[in-house]
Amino acid sequence: MTRTRTPLKIVPPPADAPAASATQRIVDSITNAIAERRLMPGTKLSEQKIGDIFKVSRTVVRQAFNQLSRDRLVMLEPARGAFVATPTAEEARDVFEVRSILETAVTKQLCAVITDAQIRELRAHLELERAAVNNAAVPGRTRLLGDFHIVLAQMLGNQVLVQMLGELMTRSSLVALMRQSTQSAEESHDEHVAIVDAFERRDTRAAVRLIGRHLANVQHNLDLDPQRVDLANVLDH
Ligand SMILES: [Zn+2]
Repeated sequence: MTRTRTPLKIVPPPADAPAASATQRIVDSITNAIAERRLMPGTKLSEQKIGDIFKVSRTVVRQAFNQLSRDRLVMLEPARGAFVATPTAEEARDVFEVRSILETAVTKQLCAVITDAQIRELRAHLELERAAVNNAAVPGRTRLLGDFHIVLAQMLGNQVLVQMLGELMTRSSLVALMRQSTQSAEESHDEHVAIVDAFERRDTRAAVRLIGRHLANVQHNLDLDPQRVDLANVLDH
C-alpha cells in the first residue's frame, strides 16, 4: 500500500537531525501528541520544559509555538504563555460542518471512479484498523481511524484536497480531545466497513448517507474532560 505522507503521519526525525529542523521537530511532536490524544486541550506548554526536553533554546521553542498557533493548535496568551487550544463548541461544529461538505463530495466522486484495487487497499486499511481496535492500542487506533478519511481523499488524487482535509482532521482531533471521547473506536471502525461495503456495491447513495451519518456520530460522541499530563511523557523527543 503506497500513499503520500499527510500531516497526521509525521514521524519525528532522528535525534541527530540538523538544528535547522529543531523547530519542526517540536511542531511535529506536539501535533502528534494532540492528534493521538496524549495532549489534552488547555494543557500548559512550558517554554522552559519543552526547551529542556528537546535540548533547544527558548527562541526555538517560541518559533514552534508560533507555527502551532498559526495552525490553531496552540493558543498564545500574553503573560500566561502557551496552551493547547480549546476550540469552542461553535468552532467544533464549524470544523465538522466543513468536513461533512468536503467528505460528502469526496465520497460521491470516489464511488463513481473507485477501482477494485482501491477497494482492496481500503480493505487492507480496515484490517489494520481492526487489529488496532482489538489491541486497544489507543494512539495507533486513533491515527488509523483518522487516516481512513485521508485515504479516501488521496484516492481522488487531489493534493489540495488531501492537504485541506489533513488540516481539518488535525483540528477535529483537537476538538475530540476537548470532549473526551465516549464514542467507541469499534463503532467508528464498523461504520468505515459499511462505507467500504457501499463502495464495493458502487452504491453512491448509501455511501454518501453512511459517511454523513458516521461524521454526525463522531461529532455527537464527544464529551468534555481535560486532564493534566507530564510533557516529558507525552512528547516524542
Ligand atoms: Zn471515521
